[in-house]
Amino acid sequence: DGPVGVLALQGDFREHVNVLTTLGADAVLVRRPDEVAAISGLVIPGGESSVMDKLSRAFGVADALKQRIAGGMPVYGTCAGLIMLADRIVDGIRGQQSLGGLDVAVRRNAFGAQTESFEADLDVPVLGEPPMHAVFIRAPVVAELGDRATALATLENGTVVAVEQGNLIGTSFHPEMTADYRFHQYFLDKIVARSSGL
Ligand code: GLN
Repeated sequence: DGPVGVLALQGDFREHVNVLTTLGADAVLVRRPDEVAAISGLVIPGGESSVMDKLSRAFGVADALKQRIAGGMPVYGTCAGLIMLADRIVDGIRGQQSLGGLDVAVRRNAFGAQTESFEADLDVPVLGEPPMHAVFIRAPVVAELGDRATALATLENGTVVAVEQGNLIGTSFHPEMTADYRFHQYFLDKIVARSSGL
């Protein structure tokens, strides 16, 4: 089976490569459309979604990724990556598009400016114990959860900050910045399940 791609147009893609490598995966950077065909899964990192969107279209990689997403390839998006996977962006910068796939609407910068970044311990039932220590940096939230998407974690006030839909996973926060790689493992497990036809 092919290597695991990390979208490397902008953002903290190196941290994701480190996590995937630590977990024993063969990780490769993805920037061009011809690099999309070989991968068995993709991580979309944190960063700035409006820039990532523009670059993904300028590099011609957006359409190739949309096709793979529609074809069921596992994709895990963190923060800006969650925005890229959302079908709807409530308050995108003018003309901002997403790859889509997750039946959710996201609100960008939902907690305010960079200075409103925070950390929280989250219960994530699919990951079990202990709770996940989550780092939120100018994070988006899931403002509307569509029927086809499932919430994986919420803040104490009920705000959805992690979602799943088939082989797609999105988190508002950044596990690649902590030492808790259970979300990345959960994502890698989807790739293995898919390739073994489970
Ligand atoms: N605020 C950024 C955006 O809208 C996301 C921030 C992040 O990825 N840490 O794309």
